[in-house]
Amino acid sequence: MDNKLECDIVKELSIQYIEKTINEGSEKFVKNHLENCKECSEFYKVMESKIYNDDGQDKLMKKHLKKVHTHINLLRISLITILIFILGATFIFWSKEQRISNLINKISEKIEYMETLDNYRITQTTMYKNLKTGEKSEFKDEYYYKNGKSKRISDSSIIFCEDNSYDSIEVYKDIKQIDYSHYNYIKQKKGGLIGVLSYVKENYQPIASTIYSLALSVREDRYNGLECYVLRFGNENSYKDIWIDKNSYITIREIDEVYGSIYTETVFTFEENIVTDEDVNTKILDSKEYDDYKRNDVNSNLSEQDLKKYNSFYLQ
Ligand SMILES: [Zn+2]
Repeated sequence: MDNKLECDIVKELSIQYIEKTINEGSEKFVKNHLENCKECSEFYKVMESKIYNDDGQDKLMKKHLKKVHTHINLLRISLITILIFILGATFIFWSKEQRISNLINKISEKIEYMETLDNYRITQTTMYKNLKTGEKSEFKDEYYYKNGKSKRISDSSIIFCEDNSYDSIEVYKDIKQIDYSHYNYIKQKKGGLIGVLSYVKENYQPIASTIYSLALSVREDRYNGLECYVLRFGNENSYKDIWIDKNSYITIREIDEVYGSIYTETVFTFEENIVTDEDVNTKILDSKEYDDYKRNDVNSNLSEQDLKKYNSFYLQ
């Protein structure tokens, strides 16, 4: 074969040879020629490097890089999604916590203000219902406070107290008895009666502005024509709902329910500046009635020293 023609054929077959898509016979022929032809051998080296660099390697590299980019992009999207989710969840929890804590703090501030008042009346009506038997009972309490004197009227008795005094008078009309007590602690302090309304301040204020406040939920509802916030603490067995008047931040209703067992509902009213001297006057019996009453002195035998001891204990 003419050498020039052979060279042309070998050059023609270069790509197939390098990419190994050539048949066995031709491969032998090319191999044989390359061993003896310097020019073709050089040409093949150039072709080989061209095919691998520009084509093969480049294609492989590009393919690989594309894969890497896809992975990076997927990773980036996942991370961004997770981050958005975390931020979103944090924001939702934070706003819920803020909302509950703000409400608890407002209710507590109101209680602190109410404790400074000199004239008010609180009524409390409690209804118990046994959910198994349907049995119901209701109790009513009224609390009067005016300038250091207080009176509590319950279904069974009336109690009179004065601020920072050990003395109390309890009148039982049904059994016609008057108990004069010189208790071992001070029965009444200014603002003491407000305790009836301060469940939220006493129990929830310590957890306000902490993650624990998320154990509470708030909803808005109406009761007795009043717009209310309803603070709920509950689980699968029971709940406690506290109804707060939106305008005044005063508790107007409390409900405790143990599912399928007991339902307790307490309704409160709070009125300012309606208590008269008569309302807190201990002289509720006329002298004739008074004579019919049995008078009972309760723990009148405490020594002055005991009183001081109890005093310091209870005033802490
Ligand atoms: Zn050649």
